[in-house]
Amino acid sequence: MSGIANIPAPHNEPVLSYAPGTAERTALKSALASQSGEVVDVPAVIGGRMVRGGKLEDVTAPHRHRQVLARVHHADADAIRAAVEAAVEAQRDWASWRFEDRAAVFLKAADLLAAEWRQVLNAATMLGQSKTAYQAEIDSACELIDFLRFNVHFAEQLYAEQPMSAAGAWNRLDHRPLEGFVYAITPFNFTAIGGNLPTAPALMGNTVVWKPAATATLSNWHFYRLLEEAGLPPGVINFVPGDPVEVSNILLADSRLAGIHFTGSTTVLRALWKQVAGNLERYRSYPRIVGETGGKDFIVAHPSADAAALAVGMVRGAYEYQGQKCSAASRAYVPRSLWPEVRDRVVSDIGSIRVGDVADFTNFRGAVIDQRAFTRLRTHLERAKTDSGVSVVAGGGTDDREGWFVQPTLLQVDDPGYRLMCEEIFGPVLAVHVYDDARWRETLDIVDRTSPYALTGGVFAQERSALIEAEQALRNAAGNFYLNDKPTGAVVGQQPFGGARASGTNDKAGSILNLMRWVSPRAIKENFDPPKDYRYPFMREA
Ligand code: NAD
Repeated sequence: MSGIANIPAPHNEPVLSYAPGTAERTALKSALASQSGEVVDVPAVIGGRMVRGGKLEDVTAPHRHRQVLARVHHADADAIRAAVEAAVEAQRDWASWRFEDRAAVFLKAADLLAAEWRQVLNAATMLGQSKTAYQAEIDSACELIDFLRFNVHFAEQLYAEQPMSAAGAWNRLDHRPLEGFVYAITPFNFTAIGGNLPTAPALMGNTVVWKPAATATLSNWHFYRLLEEAGLPPGVINFVPGDPVEVSNILLADSRLAGIHFTGSTTVLRALWKQVAGNLERYRSYPRIVGETGGKDFIVAHPSADAAALAVGMVRGAYEYQGQKCSAASRAYVPRSLWPEVRDRVVSDIGSIRVGDVADFTNFRGAVIDQRAFTRLRTHLERAKTDSGVSVVAGGGTDDREGWFVQPTLLQVDDPGYRLMCEEIFGPVLAVHVYDDARWRETLDIVDRTSPYALTGGVFAQERSALIEAEQALRNAAGNFYLNDKPTGAVVGQQPFGGARASGTNDKAGSILNLMRWVSPRAIKENFDPPKDYRYPFMREA
């Protein structure tokens, strides 16, 4: 084809309601029923070939932990090495594809996900990761569709980034993919991130080894199959479930490691970074490291805040998806004058929140992801109950008989430096420090200083001057900052997502800034009239 194609303009995928009587509700219930009755066999896929035979690991439903949903074949050492070879082998051909052809694969994937695959992914995300219908819809359907469509749009903008040319020459930028392979390591809590981390580098012409999170393997596997249906060629993305340390040890020792696209905990990113640093002499290029990690996301209220809006921001921000969003509010600072009303509203909302099996649509929340998370949270809550200066205002209970259930919990904490005001908890626990109204300014400093993270945060105030003050004082405390809104729910194309400090490299997933990390531009100068004599005019006698 000759021609400069117009890329379809992206739009955010509309969020379906799943209200009674809707077609999407019927379709989702039917997908849930059929997936509940099966155990999916999940292999590794290397160079387009399914590979079985490694250690087997079960994926279970967090809210019904005896129910096995999938049996996953771990890639063994040989298979992991084969995945690297497959990625490197596939790159020459894939990188030679025109952008339009690569883009078409991902645009088709978005369309498939918006239609016949939507409820497959939503049901798998609900069952495997314990999301409600709405939380699955905004993740495995809408956000993932948005990543696929907006990345194509941003890639077009990036490719259009070209230098100027002086008379007699033409300068161009060749936005090359990285030389080697990209290692995508994805978290359990968003199917959309699982899909975005391997596909964003692939769109830019890279080839990838993708290691999904064990507990999200079911939904991630269905997305991988969808990519194949959309026409992704073999070897471009290699699906490699396995032991994270074993996979990383092999991949990070390879001279062709070109980049790491990671989302997960701060501890793991730091370990990977150190390992890369230790191997630096081996690599052909300096591997790009893009890592989005933990948060200790805050809500801070000014005495002029609207108490009702604040309470809703706290409840939705802290407890949706069991507080297992990297952006979930887990510390709040409320002025003493507002506290009684805000506390009563939050306690009353907590009392009405139904927790249970996500296939029952009347539940607002499901279970936390696995036994390890459950035990960690139970330990936190048990300690909090006996710590001085801490009172459990609501919740605090746990129940592991059927599933890994942790009650939405509200703690009131005297010391703003208390452990649970500083560390990421990653569960439905909101710690609140009540401050004297006159100490607003000082409280902003405390918010900025108390945690090493800087991912998201929200300020509630009706006085404009307070919003301005907070925006300035907390400039480096959050990469996603909200005025009179909860700190969760970033939308691709609207609030590019990521934070700094211990929260990551802030390369803003689903934006042009992220795609830039997956190209290595070559500047090309073509001289239309090359000089024929090495001497410059000033060298002549007269
Ligand atoms: P995790 O760090 O436990 O796991 C993330 C991935 O790393 C998984 O695929 C896991 O198998 C792998 N992994 C674990 N140990 C490893 C090791 N030693 N070497 C290599 N890989 C290893 O995180 P998680 O529990 O899946 O996700 C929750 C964390 O992710 C939270 O800290 C949350 O804040 C963060 N998160 C951040 C963002 C963001 O955009 N900033 C988004 C989602 C989640």
